[in-house]
Amino acid sequence: MAEHSSDHAFVAHDHHHCITAALDEAVRICRERKGRLTEQRKRVLELVWKSHKPVGAYAILEQLRAEGFNGAPPTVYRALDFLLEHGLIHRIESLNAYTGCAHPGNRHTGQFLICSQCQRVAELDDTNVNNAITKSAQAIGFIVNHQVIEIRGICHQCQVQSHGG
Ligand SMILES: [Zn+2]
Ligand SMILES: [Zn+2]
Ligand SMILES: [Zn+2]
Repeated sequence: MAEHSSDHAFVAHDHHHCITAALDEAVRICRERKGRLTEQRKRVLELVWKSHKPVGAYAILEQLRAEGFNGAPPTVYRALDFLLEHGLIHRIESLNAYTGCAHPGNRHTGQFLICSQCQRVAELDDTNVNNAITKSAQAIGFIVNHQVIEIRGICHQCQVQSHGG
């Protein structure tokens, strides 16, 4: 299969590589920016990266509690805020859940393809889309400073499955 983008959330792959790469990148980025990636923040990031399905803060808290964490919920929210701030994860507004960023460190606005069937999310980073929005907004005198696009649909794997293939 031809690779159209570096985000392979919707194709079969060894997800362990995603997790390892995400954690390595996080360590590197935090060191560069002097952000304190504590063990707990790192564990939260790992839980967000558990799969390409976004996870909610509550599910993360539950998992941490199962591992013996007995801190208060705000601790988890602060860890998530830290990860968001450093561009390591994104918040999917429509799902009220978090997903790992496939290209942390690069400045990009969020464009997310959300599969309604398997719930997995892939990130697009198409500058044409951004430019088109910025241009149309400018035409009516509007300045864009934050844009997140969440697109619903069915991923290729789910399409194939639902056709009995
Ligand atoms: Zn993966
Ligand atoms: Zn991203
Ligand atoms: Zn799907």
